[in-house]
Amino acid sequence: MSLGLRRPHEALDYASLAGFLPPPPDFFEERFFEPPERIEARQLARLKEKALTTAAIPFHRRRWNEAGFDPRSISRLEDLASVPVYTVDDIRRSIEASPPLGDYQALRLEDARREPMRVYMSGGTTGTSRPTLYTRWDREAGAILTARALYMQGIRPGDVVLNAWSYGTHNGAWAMDEALDHWLNCVVLTTGTGSVTPSRKQVELALEYGAKAILTTGDYLLRLAEIARELGVDPEEDLRLCALPNIGDREALETTFGVPSYASYGFHEVQWVAVECTARAGLHVFEDAFVVEVVDPDSGAALPDGEQGSLVVTELYKTGSPQFRYNIMDLSTRYPREKCACGSWLRRIAPFAGRADNMVKLRGVNVWPEAVGEIVTAHPKTTTDYFVRAVRSENRDDLIVSVVSNAAAKEFESIELELEHALREKLGLKIAACVESPGGLDELTEVRTSPKPKRFRDERSTSGKE
Ligand SMILES: [Zn+2]
Repeated sequence: MSLGLRRPHEALDYASLAGFLPPPPDFFEERFFEPPERIEARQLARLKEKALTTAAIPFHRRRWNEAGFDPRSISRLEDLASVPVYTVDDIRRSIEASPPLGDYQALRLEDARREPMRVYMSGGTTGTSRPTLYTRWDREAGAILTARALYMQGIRPGDVVLNAWSYGTHNGAWAMDEALDHWLNCVVLTTGTGSVTPSRKQVELALEYGAKAILTTGDYLLRLAEIARELGVDPEEDLRLCALPNIGDREALETTFGVPSYASYGFHEVQWVAVECTARAGLHVFEDAFVVEVVDPDSGAALPDGEQGSLVVTELYKTGSPQFRYNIMDLSTRYPREKCACGSWLRRIAPFAGRADNMVKLRGVNVWPEAVGEIVTAHPKTTTDYFVRAVRSENRDDLIVSVVSNAAAKEFESIELELEHALREKLGLKIAACVESPGGLDELTEVRTSPKPKRFRDERSTSGKE
């Protein structure tokens, strides 16, 4: 070792990591079926240690001191409720005060000689990029969580897999690559998006190599199915995929490829938190890596199991950019701990139900754009493409929903009336509906240019809100 240089292979003990977070298939042979006492005892032990190490980070220490929280005071999992939560706005403020990394990191870039690290960013398209530092341990731990998720979705060791995500400053494509390569022995074809490897070539490669999965958005995979058909290839019979993306039109994906699609939940800073099992009765949280709570979006107070609110995540494995009671503002419900039909006691949460900060109060009723979207896209003559705008006129808040239809333009008016009727019936509110031809919403949703389509815009501040 020269001058304190520690190389990546020296910085990580793989065996102890695999004991801390077992990779698939081992994880699904033992830890996935553990009894509740074992699950919670491990969580508590890891949480106590996590509180002590996190207290050394300026961002957390400052907030904890202000709230009078002592990291040594955790003696039960319930004690987490006494720790103040923070949101992405707090992280943004931290970055603005000390760019580019903020003061929520446990490391500095200057530490790289002794602690090899990588940095990935989220939110790069609009606003401040939020950097996350990953030590060797964090990279491989995240790759194990990703490998578990891909395994639950149907990928098996040794499969050939196309990775059609964008290899950029975002973590996504890289984490998938590392999971497949390091923990599933899969052979990865690093095609990248359609602008790196043309769509037709992606279909040809998938066929030639007998790929078992193409990792990308649901929208792009359906586009590849169209191209396959143009080439005389049947997406189900000839491509024979075994796993489908977790985002996109589940029904269309399943009928096109003849494989089940499983929902999952995760986000940039902590990677995969929860994945649906074959029983499809909620998403199992990887509880050796996370404690998940649900709080009231307005007050931040913890909510009882079964009530919908904002997800608060504490991770138990990260060393570079720890997250301790991060209020993600994603809506979900935590179910009471019960044994699932699949045999696992791991806690389940409901699938992502929308953004808590997108909530609009309309004449005393809380409405989420995603709920409006669900109603208008359920009509037999509309597609899954929609966009909701909140506007203010004559001192009144209103929502306007636009949805795409493949029907003839002369039918649009009658579809609009039916949609408005359905919205009134389901939500008890009058919401205006507009039907658009295919492509009519592309500019608003950015569906052609962004992996995560936009579905909502609040225009009230520009339309006369005081
Ligand atoms: Zn289950």
